[in-house]
Amino acid sequence: MSRTLYDLIGLAAGVAFILALKGLSHPKTARRGNMIGAFGATLATIVVFFFVVAPKTGVAHALPLHHLGWILGAMAVGLAIGVPAARKVQMTQMPQLVALFNGVGGGAAALVAIVEYLHLGSGATKAEVIFTVFTVIVGCVSFSGSIITFMKLQELMTTRPVIFPAGRFIIAATLVSVIGVGGWVVAALGTTPLLILAGLSLLFGVLFVLPVGGADVPIVISLLNAFTGLTVAASGYVLDSVLLIIAGTLVGASGTILTRLMAEAMGRSLFGTLFGAFTAKPQAATGAAEERPVRSGSPDDVAILLNYARRVVIVPGFGLAVAQAQHTVRELADLMISKGIDVAYGIHPVAGRMPGHMNVLLAEANVPYDQLEEMDEINPTFSQTDVAIVIGANDVVNPAAENTPGCPIYGMPILQVANAANVIFLKRSMRPGFAGIENELLYDPKTMLLFGDAKASLTKVVSALKAL
Ligand code: NDP
Repeated sequence: MSRTLYDLIGLAAGVAFILALKGLSHPKTARRGNMIGAFGATLATIVVFFFVVAPKTGVAHALPLHHLGWILGAMAVGLAIGVPAARKVQMTQMPQLVALFNGVGGGAAALVAIVEYLHLGSGATKAEVIFTVFTVIVGCVSFSGSIITFMKLQELMTTRPVIFPAGRFIIAATLVSVIGVGGWVVAALGTTPLLILAGLSLLFGVLFVLPVGGADVPIVISLLNAFTGLTVAASGYVLDSVLLIIAGTLVGASGTILTRLMAEAMGRSLFGTLFGAFTAKPQAATGAAEERPVRSGSPDDVAILLNYARRVVIVPGFGLAVAQAQHTVRELADLMISKGIDVAYGIHPVAGRMPGHMNVLLAEANVPYDQLEEMDEINPTFSQTDVAIVIGANDVVNPAAENTPGCPIYGMPILQVANAANVIFLKRSMRPGFAGIENELLYDPKTMLLFGDAKASLTKVVSALKAL
């Protein structure tokens, strides 16, 4: 096969990736976009599976047979783990899966770069060595950082910032060592410094993500995703693969744009998030939920409040997704609308565990798009709202973000449900949200708590409201 044909197929895959991104930018075309992306990925896999390019001549050769067993074995292992994991994963666990897949991508790019470096030996050009060093550093940071985000999202470790004495100096020293050893590899070449570089970069990835608080995890996932893209693009240079350069650049660019958008939505500066690890200060831990009186109510109490309301705002959060109560919440909204109540949904950009999580969830229950209102649109209306019903949300309505400087979510814009005449929380216990901090609003005299699984509670509220 000529190099031109090889590159043309690669280009077709690249075009498919761009069309996929375009499709994914709107819910209506997202499914098609996903299919186009999968087609591009299949095309890319086929072309690199069957043909390898000789770096010196640029000619694409059929794959040497002695590699086949290894490649098929690796593919079998990947399929055996990836396919069941992707099929079985709950919607609420999707971010963990993405973090894991992302980390594995970064780690794989770093491994490929190390192997390629060993392969090239002293014949490597300076540019190839620089790209190898870049790939190893960023790939390893992305791998270990993603593992920590996975553990935070899976709640295998605390979701609060982990800050230790002199932490920022240790992190800064690790970064300086990474840069120093990187320079050593470029100047002196050698396998040992490269492996030391990989180890230090892995350590830096862990130290970089540990101080990130639960609420900032979405920004870090997106950032690490962009890192992985850059790693793949750099390894494309080392491997002389246009396809990897295109795919990696797309991931890097879209990941960077998403990171900026997420940071803006969270009221964080990108600089602050990137260098938060260096400036984080130890924080006083908030213990378990406080033993203070709260006003809890029954489904009948909630139904009565709703029945006499003129305007109700539904605020969905992560717990709605856990309870899979999207259909029941729509039933409740439809019932209220049939009673002449003005109903809207207040959507926070980071409610749930992934960007757009609430939009996807409510779309699944065919909630009309015009009932969904973004944070900036809905916030001024809470003062004219009789009841704000918060279903499985916590951090995104926590007033601490506005009035408690130094708390992990301070500065994040919130849905200002506290301005509504009445607030109802549907949750199972007094446990805090993902950021692990107490929510004063739960103790406010105008707040009523309906304890229980959101779906079960909503079903009871619907029956009680129907009976009124
Ligand atoms: P939170 O995690 O703050 O709160 C979820 C609430 O749901 C908890 O109070 C929990 O209380 C309740 N809950 C859980 N299961 C159920 C259930 N079955 N029935 C009823 N209630 C339930 O969620 P928010 O959506 O308010 O905030 C999202 C948080 O996640 C933010 O901190 C955000 O930064 C972070 N994040 C967001 C990502 C994104 O991209 N959207 C990605 C990663 C993190 P209880 O246990 O008492 O029931």
